[in-house]
Amino acid sequence: MTGDGTRAVRAGLPEPEAYEPTLPGPVFAAHYHLPGDAAGPYTYGRDANPTWTRLEAAIGELESPDGSAHTVAFASGMAAITAVLFSQLRSGDAVVLPSDGYQLLPAVRTRLESYGIEVRTAPTADDAQLGVLDGARLLWIESPSNPGLDVCDIRRLADAAHARGALVAVDNTLATPLGQRPLDLGADFSVASGTKALTGHGDVLLGYASTRDAALADGVRLWRKTVGAIPGPMESWLAHRSLATLALRVRQQATGALALATALAERPEVTGLRHPGLPSDPSHPLAVRQMRAGRFGCVVSFTLPDQAYAERFLAALTLVDDATSFGGVRSTAERRGRWGGDDVPEGFIRFSVGVEEPEDLVADVLRALDAASTDHHARPAV
Ligand SMILES: *Cc1c(COP(=O)(O)O)cnc(C)c1O
Repeated sequence: MTGDGTRAVRAGLPEPEAYEPTLPGPVFAAHYHLPGDAAGPYTYGRDANPTWTRLEAAIGELESPDGSAHTVAFASGMAAITAVLFSQLRSGDAVVLPSDGYQLLPAVRTRLESYGIEVRTAPTADDAQLGVLDGARLLWIESPSNPGLDVCDIRRLADAAHARGALVAVDNTLATPLGQRPLDLGADFSVASGTKALTGHGDVLLGYASTRDAALADGVRLWRKTVGAIPGPMESWLAHRSLATLALRVRQQATGALALATALAERPEVTGLRHPGLPSDPSHPLAVRQMRAGRFGCVVSFTLPDQAYAERFLAALTLVDDATSFGGVRSTAERRGRWGGDDVPEGFIRFSVGVEEPEDLVADVLRALDAASTDHHARPAV
């Protein structure tokens, strides 16, 4: 029995070879020497690259430690998501998406519909997608959902979808494979953005799709080659290097997120507080059953009284960058309403906890909340 942190530091490494590095550097190649018959695996740079191969093996080990997963890496999370949807769906098919998922899903929906695919949506909470499964070819799950942090019962939804002949894909971005293993919960695909907590340093865009079905993997790989949504060797290598600290980061971020959520629960100006690790959260009982080892992710969502209040709070933080995205080693927070895409109140904050000491972070947040409320009274009315 190998622990996740132990697995993560060795995942995807080649056999030790004297005088070679532990993790060989990125291979930059548009083409490879190819004398005679064009036997693979490495022929042309859009088809395959040894740096991808190692990264894909590593992610596969984390998503499925029994070694049964095939993983295909992409240039971004969106490249991976659209690869699964567009490689599997045909005109006339129906697909079920979450109504509260990643903010680009509505744009994906429009594109799918323009190709004659029927798109149905239902919320993540209460397994509501069960109600629209009949006749669907594919069910897309996002749990925990971003940014609302609702959780659904992946096993239950996957069983219901399979009983109707539908494929199941889970967006595993928020949890990371150390927080949740969708393939073990019955999903056909685990798909994620590697831009977030997986790589964790906010310097790489990346995505991947993992599946235990070789034919499904081939379909996704052919899609990657056809549209050319390939990851760069440098990004792939940085991602692989970052996996070695994944367990440390995920653990520290989960600890910090729970400390922050616990402190925020005491504040009267905070409403709509959500974090799956918080015992009072509606998602908590299911998250405990479905997610791994208390790793409930780094995101805490909550609402402040209004837009101006939220902006004063963000401006008063000193250890937290006002920035989008999540999962990085440095804490970030943002007012989601500024984008206009998510269905959230104006004062809604998505907070991503980094690897700072939890007590420093909590102190900074409480001080910024105090500052946001005092400023309010000091301000002249306009
Ligand atoms: C960020 C994100 C994506 C998209 O990933 P990119 O790497 O930005 O393309 C997809 N799903 C979720 C849940 C995300 O948070």
